[in-house]
Amino acid sequence: MTVLRIVRIWKIGTDRPSYFNHEALAMYNGAEKTSYLVTRRGVLSGGAAMITAGAALSHETTVHAAAPIAAKQAPGFYRYKVGDFEVTVITDGALAFPVENFVSNATTEQVKAALAAAHRATDALSVPFSPIVVNTGSKLILIDTGLGDAAFERSKGTVGQFATNLKAAGLERSNIDAVVISHFHIDHVDGLVAADGKPAFPHAEIFVPAAEWKFWMDDGEMSRAPKGRIEGLFKNSRRVFGALGGKITPYEEDKEVLAGLTAIATPGHSVGHASFVLSSGASSVFIQGDVAHIPVLFVANPGWHASIDQDPVMAEATRRKVYDMLVAEKMLVQGFHYPFPALAHVEKTASGYREVLMPWNPNI
Ligand SMILES: [Zn+2]
Repeated sequence: MTVLRIVRIWKIGTDRPSYFNHEALAMYNGAEKTSYLVTRRGVLSGGAAMITAGAALSHETTVHAAAPIAAKQAPGFYRYKVGDFEVTVITDGALAFPVENFVSNATTEQVKAALAAAHRATDALSVPFSPIVVNTGSKLILIDTGLGDAAFERSKGTVGQFATNLKAAGLERSNIDAVVISHFHIDHVDGLVAADGKPAFPHAEIFVPAAEWKFWMDDGEMSRAPKGRIEGLFKNSRRVFGALGGKITPYEEDKEVLAGLTAIATPGHSVGHASFVLSSGASSVFIQGDVAHIPVLFVANPGWHASIDQDPVMAEATRRKVYDMLVAEKMLVQGFHYPFPALAHVEKTASGYREVLMPWNPNI
């Protein structure tokens, strides 16, 4: 039906040649107005001839495509430079979430309208996950892990793709020297544990925000936690870091975690949530973690609160402060839940901000 409608609209256009600015088109074509019209008629009749030929071909029963339908995406990794550093963004896949109740202070209709305005599906919210590997020339640093091997099994490969996509990028988990965690939500830490329950990054030092560690590993806090998701996060933190034998290095904010990687306190989404500035020479990028979750919702509407924000009021204050800084500094942001490869500039709008995604660059 849609194709027929498009053909009809196109025909209406072609029936009204006065719709076109012939003088301008003729100038563009380097031809006279009349010869353009003749040529155009020629093209149209040629098109009709092609359609006839196509119709004849479709009766052939032996015509097949040269390859089966792939039904599978290409391995997802993307590289860019920050000074002397090379960043590889690795997709861990994407999960569909119910739209209902994802934003605690907007109605489902408002959220669906925001998705529709951005030409996104409105029946479910697609949430992508994009950890990054930084090659400093002397170290391979992973920032956040994705959902891990167990999620890959459970989701039949929808998420937990990090390990296979890392391999496709020519790297192995055993190559990673350091893993730096932004916060203890499952999509950022569960990949620390391999399918066999052992550490997924056997040669890596694991860096965690000191404030996050202090909160989630505190038995008193756990005893006071509301049942459900928050209680689950306390238990999950014990499971994940227990599997590492407690071998972690807490880091303080507003200091370098590793050379070129400075942690910034960005609390709200979780108590000890941290972001990072990665810099080399004159170049830098802000690695935000979950300061803003899905950008078409929370960058466009910084006052909207994600229901997964632990302290939504603090999260909003952090988000506005960070995004004002990104705009003022014209600074690139790497967003864990941005559309892959999750790298963007941001601009201010009347009601919030807008992400301008960096185009895929086939060269580095
Ligand atoms: Zn997240």
